[in-house]
Amino acid sequence: MKEYWIQYKRQSQAEHKASFPTFWRVWSSHYSFMRFRSTSSHAQCSECVKHKALISSLADHLNARKVQQDLLYTHLQAQFRDRSCYWRMRGLARARGLDVVCIQDGIDQSKFIVPRTSLMRAKTFEGFMRPKLHLVGVIAHGRHVAFYISEPNIPKDSNTSCEILADSLQRLAVAGVDLSACRVTLQADNTCREVKNGILMRYVASLVSDGVIGSGRLSFLRTGHSHEDIDQLFGRVASFIKLKVRTALTSSDFVHALEEFTRQLDRPFEPQRFVVKLDSIRDWRGWLSEAMPVSLKGIGGPGAPHVMHFCRRVDAGLLLQREATMFELRLALVRPLCA
Ligand SMILES: [Zn+2]
Repeated sequence: MKEYWIQYKRQSQAEHKASFPTFWRVWSSHYSFMRFRSTSSHAQCSECVKHKALISSLADHLNARKVQQDLLYTHLQAQFRDRSCYWRMRGLARARGLDVVCIQDGIDQSKFIVPRTSLMRAKTFEGFMRPKLHLVGVIAHGRHVAFYISEPNIPKDSNTSCEILADSLQRLAVAGVDLSACRVTLQADNTCREVKNGILMRYVASLVSDGVIGSGRLSFLRTGHSHEDIDQLFGRVASFIKLKVRTALTSSDFVHALEEFTRQLDRPFEPQRFVVKLDSIRDWRGWLSEAMPVSLKGIGGPGAPHVMHFCRRVDAGLLLQREATMFELRLALVRPLCA
């Protein structure tokens, strides 16, 4: 808890900052319902692990230890500021204005092994190969929660990510959202295989260019600190599957289980719920590479926090010097967003 107090002191703009006993008293009286996860199965941030290891090994070198502590807190402050930008966008999206924010991620596949039944514990099935289903969750803040489940033979790649983004946007349009006036943000983790790649950038650029959406953004938090509310939702899905789903012999049984889960889900900001079975995926990669042979190199290091913003020249306040149909792809790399 002392670490959180030190971070609070560094973060706070107030002239008089609370002492540790006051901080502790307020925490225990107002926020005692909040719990910290004891252990996590996810990989930890390399930067954090490096500084923590150095701090613990520098017990006899107070000055060096203090420098390492400062570096660690500076790093934690920077990731908190990145996160604050996402929370701000989420707040605007929940107000249901012109901001649409979707966060997309895949769940740990080990939770969705088929068939799922107690009979599989038998020695007879010891060497039985059980396929793992893919599950991707999307929270369109202020709009809907959607789960996309697919068989293992459908790859988790940029094609699937394009398909899911297209489906999410279609559902928003059907719900009456005027996407052509909206600023659409897709938040995801740093996995280059799924969202942080040239295919998704081309797809969002084409949506902006064609006027389907007003402007588009691909937003990523830094590696090791990219876990957000979607992961908290996945934790609830995993608990539900573990406690309530004793038997699921096919992917359809998991679809029914997820539909049951979404009916019980208490997320007042997102009243609509969808569970979609993806049977096949279109070849977005081939089409986008052919339609837009633009070099999109220069994303930078895979671990850095990035926001790729796409807008039309006319919306950026620039005069059109060519035909109106020749909308130019404007790629702005903002790195880091708010350092
Ligand atoms: Zn870190």
